[in-house]
Parts: sequence; structure tokens; C-alpha cells
Amino acid sequence: MYDYIVVGLGVAGFSFLQQLEENRQNYIVFDNQSQQSTRIAGGMFNPVILKRFTPAWQAAQMLPYALLQFKKAELKYQNQYIHYIDIYRKLTGIEEQNNWWVASDKPVMCDYMHQITYEKIDGIEAPFGFGVLKGTGIVNVSALLDDVQNELKRRNLLRNEYFDYEQLHIHEKYVGYKDIKARKIVFAEGYGLKNNPFFKDLPLMGTKGEMLMIETEAQIPYIVKSNVFIAPNVVKKGQYYVGATYNWNDKTNLPTPQARKHLEEKLSRLLQKPFRVVLQKAGIRPTVTDRRPLAGVHGRYRNLGVLNGMGTRGVILAPSIAKQLFGYMEFGMTLPKEIDIKRFEPV
Ligand SMILES: Cc1cc2nc3c(=O)[nH]c(=O)nc-3n(C[C@H](O)[C@H](O)[C@H](O)COP(=O)(O)OP(=O)(O)OC[C@H]3O[C@@H](n4cnc5c(N)ncnc54)[C@H](O)[C@@H]3O)c2cc1C
Repeated sequence: MYDYIVVGLGVAGFSFLQQLEENRQNYIVFDNQSQQSTRIAGGMFNPVILKRFTPAWQAAQMLPYALLQFKKAELKYQNQYIHYIDIYRKLTGIEEQNNWWVASDKPVMCDYMHQITYEKIDGIEAPFGFGVLKGTGIVNVSALLDDVQNELKRRNLLRNEYFDYEQLHIHEKYVGYKDIKARKIVFAEGYGLKNNPFFKDLPLMGTKGEMLMIETEAQIPYIVKSNVFIAPNVVKKGQYYVGATYNWNDKTNLPTPQARKHLEEKLSRLLQKPFRVVLQKAGIRPTVTDRRPLAGVHGRYRNLGVLNGMGTRGVILAPSIAKQLFGYMEFGMTLPKEIDIKRFEPV
């Protein structure tokens, strides 16, 4: 008998596994790579909304815990995932410069938003300078998931297959699935939740995002944000991540020529040096109508949990929300109303 079955090994599933490990629970994981959100994410962590210079929901509060959890993973797997890189927000005029100063004086924001600089960045013109954000960076979540997967495979704890919901048998004190019994099950399937008969009515919208990997001679040591992000590929010098698009209609993981054109056009306005696209990828962000995560247990079957809705900020949110869900499922701790799926009753 396992303590938990976990369905989904994106950043949400990984964060829940960390809670299980820390609390000496045993588990088995199902993942079939049908969703790609974590794998293709830029992995950026930044608690400031760079369009309006406002704080992202709970991000500054949750970021230290997220970094602590990723640091623990670094120690465990003897690999580097966290890369601190300043973000340079290209400013568009005097008004934005003023807005930057006003915002950077506010509590919390002042920890991240620093000076305006006129530093020259290779290939990028910025007559009004850049607002500099510090304490930001990239978590190489893809490398992290590779390491976690390898370890789980080695320990025979990963089933690389589709979790077939119809074969789940729910009993009062445990669940049964094929040859497996577990006290509880947690679903962390990202947009795959739409196929889950127990939680499919939750208002998960899904927002498709596409990104490009490019090569250029320009040497850009920071993450630069203008109408797109350009961020150094932390594992390959000379390559840069460019993203991302937002599409609320298309729910496939397929890259499209439209998104490529859109990103290339935006990048051409930002980067005054030639570039070459070497990769294009697409995934569905698990976004929710009210833009808050989804955590909780099924209204009728209390041994079925859900961890989802990380939206555009999985790296910052997932570790804390996983901790809150585990505390709720094991110790009866209260889930904050904003993330509890009860706000959408009945489920
Ligand atoms: C282009 C793009 C850029 C992004 N950039 C950033 C960024 O810079 N920073 C940031 O914090 N966030 C970013 N995000 C958002 C971030 O990717 C998400 O918030 C996060 O990855 C969601 O993680 P998840 O674990 O909930 O879902 P997923 O990563 O989608 O993982 C779900 C897993 O469940 C598995 N699964 C689903 N159903 C089943 C089933 N029935 N059986 C077996 N396995 C199943 C899937 O195969 C998948 O591995 C970006 C997203 C996109 C698309």
C-alpha cells in the first residue's frame, strides 16, 4: 500500500513529491508527457508584473520558499537549476520612467525594482533606458524534471503511461488502480485535468503559449523584457529563449507558423542584430478564470486531491501551494479560500 499516487510530473507534481519526501510518505507517479507546460516554460521567476509595475499575486511572499525548495533539489541531485539573472525592462518613454520610480518606492516592490540604467546592451537600443530588477532569474525546470524522472525510474516509482481514470476504484480508506493501492491520490495534470472526470468541471481555461529558441551573435547577459522576453539559454551559450505568446482558443500543443511570425516580428523590433530560429515549442498554461491556483479535495471522495491552476507563474507558486495542499490533506490545516476549489462548489 502506497501513501499516495501522484498523476502528473510537471512543476506541480514535482513540488508535491517534495512534500511527500519531506514527510516520509511513499508514493508512485504516473506521467505520459501529454502536457508540456513545465518542459517548455522559460522558468523565469519574477514577482513583478512588468506591464503595469504591480506585484503579482502572492509572488513576493512565495518566492523565498520556492527558491528554498529548488535549492534542496540542487543539493539532492547535485545539479544547478537556479540561475540568478537580472531582468532589464526596456522603458518606452518619460511616463514609464516616472511610473518605474513611483512603483519602485513601494514596499515589497523596492526589494526587486532597482535603478534605471542606460547601460548599452549588445544589439538593443533603449533611448529611455532599462528599469533593473534584481533577485530574479531562471529555474531550469526541464533539467530538474529530467533528474527527478531518472531517479524515479531507478527506484521503480514512475509509470510512464496514461492514467486511465476509469480504472480508479475509490474506497473509503484507500484507492485502487490496476495492481496498486494507495491511501490517497493527487492529480497534478496541468491542462490534462480536462480529461479527469472527478475535477473536469473546475474552470480551468488553458492558455496556449509558444516560444522560440534563437541563435544570434549579440551578447545579452540579462533577461530583457520589451514586447517580448529575450533570455539567455542557461545551458547553451549564444542561444536565447524568446517568448511567449498567449492564445485562448487553440488547445493543442502544436507549434504554429502564426506564433512564430508574431514572435519573430516582435523580436526584430527589439533586437537589431540577425538571428536564426533553432527551435519552436508550444504548451498550454493551466490558467483559471479567476487567476488563482486550484487546490483541495473532491467534495464526495475526500481521498482525491487536486493541485493545478499555476497559470503563468508555476515556478513561484507550485512549491507553496503543494505545501498547503499536503498540510490540508494530512494534517487538516486550513486552505486559504483563494486557492481552495470549494470556491467553485459543487465539484
Ligand atoms: C510558453 C510558456 C512559457 C512559460 N513561462 C513561464 C515562466 O517563465 N515562469 C513560470 O513560472 N511559468 C511559466 N509558464 C507557466 C508554467 O509552465 C506553468 O505554470 C506550469 O508549468 C504548470 O505546471 P503543471 O505541473 O501544473 O502542469 P504541466 O507542466 O502541464 O504538467 C502536467 C503533467 O501531467 C501529465 N499528465 C496529464 N494528464 C495525465 C494522465 N492522464 N496520465 C499521465 N500523465 C498525465 C502531463 O504529461 C504533464 O507532464 C510558461 C508556460 C508556457 C506555455
